[in-house]
Amino acid sequence: MLDDPPPDKRQRTSSSSIDENSSILRSTIWYDDGSIVLQAECTQFRVHRTLLCQNSTIFTDMFSIPQPSPDETLVEGCALVHLSDSAEEVETILRALYFHTVDDQLPISIVEIYLRLGSKYDIRCSMDKAVHSLTSGCPTSLEERDTISISRKFKAPTPTMIDVLNIAREYSIQTVLPFAYFVCTCYLEDFALGMAREDGSLAELNNDALGICIIGRRRIHEALRLHSFSWLMKDTKISTHCAHEATCSGHKNNVIKRSFRSSTDLVRVALEKWKSSVIHCPLCTPCLMEAKRLHRAGREKMWELLPSFFGLPPWDELKNLK
Ligand SMILES: [Zn+2]
Repeated sequence: MLDDPPPDKRQRTSSSSIDENSSILRSTIWYDDGSIVLQAECTQFRVHRTLLCQNSTIFTDMFSIPQPSPDETLVEGCALVHLSDSAEEVETILRALYFHTVDDQLPISIVEIYLRLGSKYDIRCSMDKAVHSLTSGCPTSLEERDTISISRKFKAPTPTMIDVLNIAREYSIQTVLPFAYFVCTCYLEDFALGMAREDGSLAELNNDALGICIIGRRRIHEALRLHSFSWLMKDTKISTHCAHEATCSGHKNNVIKRSFRSSTDLVRVALEKWKSSVIHCPLCTPCLMEAKRLHRAGREKMWELLPSFFGLPPWDELKNLK
């Protein structure tokens, strides 16, 4: 059963080998029938050896080493194992093991702990939770991108988006990378000097990531002319059935002029659906239908090419947690 002293209640261990003046905290994660005590910083956790071994090959190996020393420190009869991680990190990972929750999106600080300790101790379930959280906010198909709810999608420009990209790069969560790079590229000016998190710390992209975004932005601009906006670049009639060539050509040129005058970076509309309210182009019916068809096909091509803009393999070759 879970003993529930106040989280900050200070309690000395029963071991005489621990300095009587030291202040050891007992975590709320303290099971009376636990079989091992973990200590991180000054906090101890009494947990079940079996549970740790079931979820971690590293703990299995650690506990399989005989500990014959008669001087071994015991806490309430349990072996004491010191971990070099912070108490907050250990508590977070233990909660993940004991309390199974299915969260689409976890706070990014929790995701980072799941991945760091998950990879250090080979705890697959925490790494899977972290990957699920990241991928649920970064679509991997155009259909998902169009239907993903706003509450699930990572917001931009926010420091969280910088953290998402940095974490995906560090832990090789490749399926997250195309969309994360794309969003950071859309808001490059906002992200270039970093953004302050709520706790005042600065979320920053390193020079390598910034360089990839800068090159990606140039590639996207080039691809926009060939794909999403190919209908604007045509020297001939948009549709061979155009009945008002001069009028349609004039409308097309007006859209091009507006695009140049607009302060919105065209990268931000690279994956957007056709919106009549935005494009304002009263073409004749055959030209409008052809323009929409070219835009739709071009947008699908842009999505297909998205990983390549950032030097990544095609979508179907992207893997997570190699
Ligand atoms: Zn026309």
